[in-house]
Amino acid sequence: MGAKTERLRELLGEIFDLNAASAVLGWDQQTYMPPGGAEARAQQLSTLSRLSHDKFVCDDFGAALQSAQSEVAKLPLENDDAALVRRTARDFDKQHRVPSEWVAEFSLETARAHPIWEKARAEADFPHFKPALEIIVRLKRDYAEFFRPYEHVYDPLIDDFEPGMPTRQVKAVFDILRPQQVELLRATKEHGRPVSDAPVRQAFDIEKQRQFGVAVIKELGYDFNRGRLDKAVHPFTTSFGIDDVRITTRYDPDFLNDALFSTIHECGHALYEQGITSSLDRTPLASGTSMAVHESQSRMWENFVGRSRPFWVAFYPRLQVLFPGLLGKVKLADFYRAINKVEPSLIRVDADEATYNLHIMLRFELEIELMSGTLAVQDLPEAWNARMRDYLGITPPDDAQGVLQDVHWSFGGFGYFPTYALGNLVAAQLWEQIAKDIPDLEAQIARAEFAGLLAWLRENIHRHGAKYYPVELLQRVTGQDLTPEPYLRYLRRKFGEVYDLR
Ligand code: ZN
Repeated sequence: MGAKTERLRELLGEIFDLNAASAVLGWDQQTYMPPGGAEARAQQLSTLSRLSHDKFVCDDFGAALQSAQSEVAKLPLENDDAALVRRTARDFDKQHRVPSEWVAEFSLETARAHPIWEKARAEADFPHFKPALEIIVRLKRDYAEFFRPYEHVYDPLIDDFEPGMPTRQVKAVFDILRPQQVELLRATKEHGRPVSDAPVRQAFDIEKQRQFGVAVIKELGYDFNRGRLDKAVHPFTTSFGIDDVRITTRYDPDFLNDALFSTIHECGHALYEQGITSSLDRTPLASGTSMAVHESQSRMWENFVGRSRPFWVAFYPRLQVLFPGLLGKVKLADFYRAINKVEPSLIRVDADEATYNLHIMLRFELEIELMSGTLAVQDLPEAWNARMRDYLGITPPDDAQGVLQDVHWSFGGFGYFPTYALGNLVAAQLWEQIAKDIPDLEAQIARAEFAGLLAWLRENIHRHGAKYYPVELLQRVTGQDLTPEPYLRYLRRKFGEVYDLR
């Protein structure tokens, strides 16, 4: 490593430490902090994030970055330093285009909007949230202007979460996906053999649920020496560095799916972070490369593995031993169908695999209209409900179960939603490649052997961290750009079987 890149690494290391310290405080806030700690914690977090931001945008840092850029200019992208400098330069450029007055106004308005949104949702009162949302929409439209010239006003917004993914490409993919997912949903409803989820909707002891979840993720490869599992209202994964990656879950005493699949989902995120090569630690490359690629990992373990028949060939007998009274007489085939029941639902986070993307496409389309100025905030509830009817055939009884359900718009997270659906597509695309490279993958899973799958992911995805942009990573691994076909094939095959469709 050259001396100038070494200097840049030192500065990035300090910023990394500050951010990791914030992450520890954030983890504590959502797990163990007493309610009285909220005010002091907000100040601690604000101080740390200001220090980290100041260190990043200061002239010293800019000079160090520039020197490092000339030092690595001739190195290939496979080189860690070249990749580190490239990614840092991108983030630096983005930060510098945004005036500090905008940053201050945005953080103030979103901080104000959060409790307003909470109250509006609790009381199903959209007009209460409307003025705050109008301000945030205006601010995000202003934000896009800092990145002119752009092809689409929504491009700079997606780019914050999914580097290098233009709106045009997301639209093209969703346009193929939407009608086919709507059709699949209709087919399961009209021609499918009805599925009962009664087996998973019983009173499952929470301590036993926890034991089972821990046993499962240990076998998947989650390293408890470098992580832990705790409870939180909204499950999440957080990393303080490659050797401390923590997950959380939540338990529903009357529904087995909730904790079980949340735990496997978060474990999937954590396996990604725990699998990054140690030479990238304390740099911005020590994290997943994008939201969609991260979500591809969590969804792969949750759904392609955890909701598959081979997985339950291995684990169902153990679950029956744990819950003999509840599941002793339930056949594997009925249990498998129960965990895969398809049902149009109002709430995105509760949606099954066959309907989930429809919730995302609805949000994506509305966000684009809001940003393009073709939809006014006051018309949002009506536009939301119309699309719910078109795509899912149901109408929310109130706005709390409709347009107000997600937190994202209150923090200005426009451009975030599409990455959830893109993650499903990336997962399917990778899965087809994995099935080629590991021909007996299903047999391995049915024997509870995950080492081969994890090694493949480590080698092709995890170890690189954020070294490659998502498009590059997908090209390297599958030789293709993002495409919806593998996911559609996966859905048709799986739900065709679950619902006996011909
Ligand atoms: Zn996730």
